[in-house]
Parts: sequence; structure tokens; C-alpha cells
Amino acid sequence: MTDLTFTITEAERRSAEDREAVLANPGFGDHFTDHMVSIVWTQDEGWHDAEILPFGPISMNPASSVLHYGQEIFEGLKAYRRADGSIVTFRAEENARRLNDSARRMALPELPVELFVESVRKLVEIDAEWVPSGDDQTLYIRPFMIADESFLGVRAAQRARFLIIASPSGAYFTGGVKPVSIWLSQGLSRAGQGGTGAAKCGGNYAASLLPQNQAAENGCQQVLFTDSNTVDTIDELGGMNLFLVRSDNTLVTPELNGNILPGITRKSLIQLAQDRGYSVEERAVTVSEWREGVADGSITEAFACGTAAVITPIGQLKSPDFTIDFGDNAPGELTLSLREELTGIQYGTREDRHGWLEVIVPAHAAA
Ligand SMILES: *Cc1c(COP(=O)(O)O)cnc(C)c1O
Repeated sequence: MTDLTFTITEAERRSAEDREAVLANPGFGDHFTDHMVSIVWTQDEGWHDAEILPFGPISMNPASSVLHYGQEIFEGLKAYRRADGSIVTFRAEENARRLNDSARRMALPELPVELFVESVRKLVEIDAEWVPSGDDQTLYIRPFMIADESFLGVRAAQRARFLIIASPSGAYFTGGVKPVSIWLSQGLSRAGQGGTGAAKCGGNYAASLLPQNQAAENGCQQVLFTDSNTVDTIDELGGMNLFLVRSDNTLVTPELNGNILPGITRKSLIQLAQDRGYSVEERAVTVSEWREGVADGSITEAFACGTAAVITPIGQLKSPDFTIDFGDNAPGELTLSLREELTGIQYGTREDRHGWLEVIVPAHAAA
């Protein structure tokens, strides 16, 4: 608990009928729950004015620094409704800690971990009806922080705002988990040494959109970014970390070298793979190694991972010079089985042996 008291302003909630219509087919990122969280920070007062308020537009001074210099960071996590009606979140403290790592890099204020977790909890509680119950459906939670000081000078934030919005979200894959094709970005990077690659900031995403368009023009759904110096050492995808599976029961994933985002899904999968007796190598991984490994049969699967899609099998890697195909274009066995295990833990059909879940609303809570 923190000593900040939240002011709660009840929204005029949407009707059960409207809500059910949304939850029947939520899509991703289109619909939002009835409430949001807002907490203000100033250099003089620290964090204050914690509020749960009706979801809706926020007003900003056009001179707000986020609009000019891009001081914005965000997080993404999910709430899951389990078969017994209970609602849980997954490793929210990890998101809180990572938000603070991003905040330091972007000269934004850090938020106490307990305040982050309490804010998530409060929003999920008040909007519990918006957590969908369909297969692979979740409530996607989007905490973010902006510098909203009205000042055109360039400096570290002296006024910031932390907000959380939430969006019911449908299954990422409809009709089964399908492998994606990924495009090896040509000459455009998302991060460089000493840059902001390890911070979850909006600017990294802005920089990834042009290469993402190039991927689409080449028939691919995702982009693979390499280190900008070698153009061979793999960083990650636009919003997902990468794993290769070797035939000798080893998983290989790029090390956290400051260029890549330390994914919580990545960290969780490393744990689950090690629990099964796989060895996991976190080190520099190159596109050349990947090509050679597929050619000689020592690399058998590749997948990308992140909160939104959990695990996405990779069926093909394309560049102007070559294409790596994973034979039958079916998801790998370990890929599917790790996906099943992680989602099983989240939805409560498998034991949560690492204590990753927090119950926000207990099973069939008394009304
Ligand atoms: C959020 C994100 C990921 C995945 O992180 P998770 O914690 O697993 O959701 C990977 N790469 C980038 C660039 C990201 O922004």
C-alpha cells in the first residue's frame, strides 16, 4: 500500500448490452473500459492527485513537452479471467520495475512499484466486468507516462502524468496459431548502442513503422532488426523478442545488450524452458548462424514472444538476398508446447509454481 489516496469518480457505465456486444468480438486496441487511472507528478510535490476517473479525453497544453520532444514511456500487461470467474494479473511488479528503468533513460520520474501495482489492481477491480471470458481473450492494460509540462525548452521533465487505460482484447490468432513471415530490415535500425532500445518508449515504435511498412510490401507481417554496426547480430522484432530452438535441446536468444527490450515473456519462457531441462543461451546471435543452422538441421524452430501475442512461431525469414524457410510452415513442437504452458499458467489450468499471478478478483466474488 502507498500513502496516496485515490479519488474515485464513478463513470456513467455503459449498458451491459453494449458491453456484451464489445466483448463478443473485442479485436485489439479499439475499445476501452469505463474508467482510467491518472496520477500527477511535479518536481516540488512528487506523485499526487491519484485518481480513478471516467475514461475519456484528457486536455493538454499544446506546449506540453511530450508533444514536441517525445518524452513518453509505456507498459503492456494483461488481466485474465479464469474458468472459476476469478481475475488475475501476471507479474505486474516486473512491469513496474521496467517502467522505472525506462523512466530513468527518458529523464522521467520513477513511480513506486507498489503504486503501479495498486493502480493496476484498482482499475481492474472497478472495470472487472470488462475482462472477457472467451478463449484466449484478455483485458489488455496500458500504463503510460508522459511529460506534460507546458514549456518549449528542452530539459528533464518537471511535471509528468502517469495514466492507465484498459482495452478488452480478443485472441491474437483466430483459427489456430499460425507462423508469420518476417522481413530482415535493410539499413533501418530501431536502436543503436547507447540509444533507447532497452526503454519501452513510443519513439522506438515510431522508428519501427517505416521498416514495418517495408516488411508488408515484401509480404511479411513483422520486421527483424539487427544491430546497426554488424547488420548480422540479431536484436529483436519491432515489439517482440526472438528465440531459436536447436536440435540439441538448447534455446538461444539475444542477450540483453542494451539495444533490446527486456521482455517479461522472454524472461518467463527462459524460466519455463530451464524448468524442463533445456539449456538457454543468452548471447549474441547472428542471422548467419540462423541460416547455417537451418541449412544443417541444427536449428529446428524459431519464435517471437511478447505479452500481446504470447508466442508467435516464425515460418520464414526474408531479405532481398535470401529466404530461410522452416520446411512445412507449421509451428514448432516446443514453440506450441511453451505457449500452451505459459497461457495455461495465466488462465489457471496449470500450476503457478513461480508465484507469477496475483488474484485481483477472487472466484465468483460475492456481489
Ligand atoms: C514490450 C516489448 C517486448 C515484449 O515485452 P513483454 O514484456 O514480453 O511484453 C519486446 N520488444 C519490444 C520492443 C517491446 O516494446
